[in-house]
Amino acid sequence: MNDIRDDVRAAFHDAYGQEASGVWSAPGRVNLIGEHTDYNEGFVLPFAINRRTVAAVGLRDDSTLRVASSFADEIAEISLAELTPDALAGWSAYPLGVAWALGEHGADLAAVPGVDIFIDSDVPVGAGLSSSAAIESAVALALNDVWRLGLDRTTLAKVGQLAENKAVGAPTGIMDQSASLLGKADSAVFLDCRTLDATVVPLGFDEAGLALVIIDTGVAHSHSTGGYGERRAACERGATAMGVPSLRDLSIDDLPRAQQLLDDVTFRRVRHVVTENQRVLDTVRTLREQGPTAIGELLDASHASMRDDFEISVPELDLAVETAQANGAIGARMTGGGFGGAAIALVPIEGVSRIQVAIDGAFAEHSFGQPEMFVVTASYGATREP
Ligand code: ADP
Ligand code: MG
Repeated sequence: MNDIRDDVRAAFHDAYGQEASGVWSAPGRVNLIGEHTDYNEGFVLPFAINRRTVAAVGLRDDSTLRVASSFADEIAEISLAELTPDALAGWSAYPLGVAWALGEHGADLAAVPGVDIFIDSDVPVGAGLSSSAAIESAVALALNDVWRLGLDRTTLAKVGQLAENKAVGAPTGIMDQSASLLGKADSAVFLDCRTLDATVVPLGFDEAGLALVIIDTGVAHSHSTGGYGERRAACERGATAMGVPSLRDLSIDDLPRAQQLLDDVTFRRVRHVVTENQRVLDTVRTLREQGPTAIGELLDASHASMRDDFEISVPELDLAVETAQANGAIGARMTGGGFGGAAIALVPIEGVSRIQVAIDGAFAEHSFGQPEMFVVTASYGATREP
């Protein structure tokens, strides 16, 4: 962490020829349980991870915004007056979209000074760990500070989501930014996506002798296309047919009626969301009452529901999960939006390498590309770095 923070100051200086006035950082996140529940106004349980995006920021004396990143060669530039979602494209739509979205949440973009931003990150991109929320949250917190906007973190999460929805064009929910902004060390964020009430829930993985392993299949997922939008549409269809504002308003008891009313596919989409909401509630209760060793079955059931009812898994994710389960994991599931990306496995610390070897072997046997595997810990949320 020290390295990347020092690097970003030096890189800022190289790019802009002056010292940054501060460095802000925000973590990626992994979702422990609660998938495709966020846009159905349900429950999610993500945690901020020990991989971060850092943003060095300096104020300018004109009204120009410039952003550079260790990921890109060019410096993107736009004047505050020209800042609209349509004017933004590529990677810089994330940070510049945040600046625009702050304007939608009350910042007077005609009055604030321009800024230079340099971004660096050790959050893997496209691995389901939300490098997008990390960059949005780091920039949102930084601009909130340097522009003295005084917005609270729940609002900053909405700012990041608005940037991603409108400037980037990805129809994602509020979970990722909430985890990145509200996360605490060794804890998950239990988020009610209807009220945006967030509760910190201690995880206690370490004390229980458990590690959380990410298995990044390397299979590309894309939120902007196809399956994700279709799943959202199915959920809306199901809610409308059931006469409720959102699937959040249904419980397990409503499923028999849903099965009578809905076509098979829509019913199974609805069943995933309804049972997944219940699994999140059960996971929170189980963590509090029994600790993390007892949540394995809930993780496993979540995976089965995404594979069979929501149909967003892929063979690589199923293989990763099954191999982890067969080699000593407490529980395992795909995580993130699906159609690729990563799986997680909750594993006794001494069993981590056995599981990694088994998964490597299984992937080779199936001629799947080599997966990336690493342990993540639950870390603190977005912050101004000293
Ligand atoms: P993820 O699952 O990692 O969130 P997304 O496709 O949602 O995947 O977001 C990844 C995109 O976010 C990248 O392709 C890039 O445009 C942008 N991004 C993330 N981190 C950085 C960074 N450090 N510098 C520049 N762009 C970044
Ligand atoms: Mg993302």
